[in-house]
Amino acid sequence: MAQKKNSRNSIGLYSPVTDVKGVGPKKAEAFLRLGIENLSDVLELYPREYEDLRNRKRIFELTDGEKAVVTARVLNASLGRGFGRKRTLHVLTEDDTGRMEVLFFNGTYLLPQFKAGNLFRFYGKVKIEYGRTTMFHPSYSHADADAEDGILPVYPLTRGLTQKDVRLLSAAALEHLDELKETLPEAAVVSARLCGRDYAYRNIHYPEGDDGFRAARYRLVYEELFCLDAALALSRTRGGRGRKGRSFDISSSKEFTDSLPYKLTGAQSRALSEILSDMKSDKAMNRLVQGDVGSGKTAVACAAMFVALKNGCQSAFMAPTDILARQHFETLKKLFRGFGTHIELLTSSMPSAEKRRVLKGLADGSVDIAVGTHALISDNVVYKDLGLVITDEQHRFGVSQRESLSAKGTDPDVLVMTATPIPRTLAVVLYADLDISIIDELPPGRVPIETTRYDASGRNKAYALLENEVRSGRQAYVVAPFIEDSEALDAYSAEGLFEEVKSRFPDLKCGLLHGRMTQQEKDAVMEAFYSGQLQILVSTVVIEVGIDVPNATVMLIENSERFGLAQMHQLRGRVGRGEHKSYCLIITDSESETAVERAEIMCSTSDGFVIANKDLEIRGPGEFFGYRQHGLPQLRLADPVKHGAVAAQALKDVKEMLSEDPSLSLPQNAFFAQNLRNKYMQSDRLTL
Ligand code: ADP
Ligand code: MG
Repeated sequence: MAQKKNSRNSIGLYSPVTDVKGVGPKKAEAFLRLGIENLSDVLELYPREYEDLRNRKRIFELTDGEKAVVTARVLNASLGRGFGRKRTLHVLTEDDTGRMEVLFFNGTYLLPQFKAGNLFRFYGKVKIEYGRTTMFHPSYSHADADAEDGILPVYPLTRGLTQKDVRLLSAAALEHLDELKETLPEAAVVSARLCGRDYAYRNIHYPEGDDGFRAARYRLVYEELFCLDAALALSRTRGGRGRKGRSFDISSSKEFTDSLPYKLTGAQSRALSEILSDMKSDKAMNRLVQGDVGSGKTAVACAAMFVALKNGCQSAFMAPTDILARQHFETLKKLFRGFGTHIELLTSSMPSAEKRRVLKGLADGSVDIAVGTHALISDNVVYKDLGLVITDEQHRFGVSQRESLSAKGTDPDVLVMTATPIPRTLAVVLYADLDISIIDELPPGRVPIETTRYDASGRNKAYALLENEVRSGRQAYVVAPFIEDSEALDAYSAEGLFEEVKSRFPDLKCGLLHGRMTQQEKDAVMEAFYSGQLQILVSTVVIEVGIDVPNATVMLIENSERFGLAQMHQLRGRVGRGEHKSYCLIITDSESETAVERAEIMCSTSDGFVIANKDLEIRGPGEFFGYRQHGLPQLRLADPVKHGAVAAQALKDVKEMLSEDPSLSLPQNAFFAQNLRNKYMQSDRLTL
């Protein structure tokens, strides 16, 4: 609507941010990048820390290690060595008592703000070394105009916004808190003794003191966990918690395991017997198998499918990518070779005639096992009698996808497998509906992978090792974070790296693989790598999951700072799959603490569970799963690990609520239920 800018007193909590004086279209665009469209949105942009203006110091009063507020004038500002945006900005400042250097990493774009003579207020951690006072990456604002006091929020920013801009907006929003309604059911508010929403928002942004802040955070953390639990519980009921399943005759499993070219490890046998006892019981199976990369989950899954087959049922085996689905298809064909099992592949990139043929076979029951991508759950797929559903790398699927697959059968048993071990503390929250089996043992005879970290100056050494391996008959992966070069990002691209590697080793055969290639192109490249025609495969993370080329012994990761721990662990799992000693070479020139820490963790352990726990520590649970991807409430403040007691209280209250009102239709819960749907559950993902 083309409306004239509202006069100030008609602004409401749900007015667009442009209604606030001082916010024009440019800033509105920047706010939008933070997910903020109207005033109320800023309420959930929680400060990442606080500027305690009560601790104002002059430069000579500063002590090493403290956090303080310093008002100082810019003497000069300059960029350090480096290139592009990665240069460090050095700002030399002074007050009446001394000088202080302020450093911003990757601070090129900040340079114009720090003109000589300007007065700033800096807030950050102080380092004093050899008589020099330095502040790293402080928050800052122009100091002349404001006379702010107390405890101020420090927000996560995006380009085009300053702390002042966001503070202005949050302060404006806080003026309209009277429009807020209580979203949680009254019973929960009473049971957990929560403060009101208005009080919580006011104190999380501008804490009145320690008590106010604590009460505010408690309420907001509780609310996030309460919503998450409620959403999970409701989606579970819909999936049929405690639903009846089939009771399979499991006596045939031995016939299959005896046919394998190896003996199951103890951990595989344990997981399999847990699965079999689920299949035998008349309750539907809902089991998660966690097993590190290479622990042999596929064989276990196949034994379960064999049992389903012997009971006259079809199985579906779903993988997250085409490449992985194809590979599973090949593996399954091998493992079931002696049994005359009819296995078909179904992916969306298949020719339609081929698809029709497979669909027909699924519908008339002539196909025993369907392997595929999410194409297995599209609407047009009908199964004659689907008894077992297995999803590999399930953390990549949304809850609803999992469910729509199981909805295709009559009470099928459901098995999900993941190589990304989930710390138990989180698993109990997110997968509370699943039983868990753990395969924590690798098949015997694996030689440990040697992992080494290099900085840019060691790059040649890393490539020399790679060359040495390839020249002695092995194969290598080289992974870049991006597909193509970009001006904005100083990092290797697969395309750029492909050219570089080719010119480095002109006589070696080198291939390129990334997600923007067509399926045929990808297949051709993978085929060439599988068969050994290609010696080096330059790629993006599309090779992350599952690819199994035992002759590959080198995984070289460029710009490792761009990869998460779990991702690198997956990448490393692509090597060390054969009899030869393998290497993982991690190259990063980043000085950032996280990048270095991640690389060191990779070098120090190969235990997926240890890595998952570290990953959780570094990234926090909010990002760990990409809750957004699941269409589930995001955790912004809550950490089920740190806030265990709050989590327990929230879970108890949710259970109580649902035991009285399983579908949330009573009037006292209606507003909460409506909010939960509106806010968190996009209809295409998780419908309640
Ligand atoms: P993941 O758990 O990563 O899916 P896979 O199922 O792909 O692992 O198994 C990794 C490799 O180990 C495969 O080549 C498989 O044939 C082999 N393997 C699996 N189980 C055993 C075992 N018990 N003994 C020896 N090799 C095994
Ligand atoms: Mg696997």
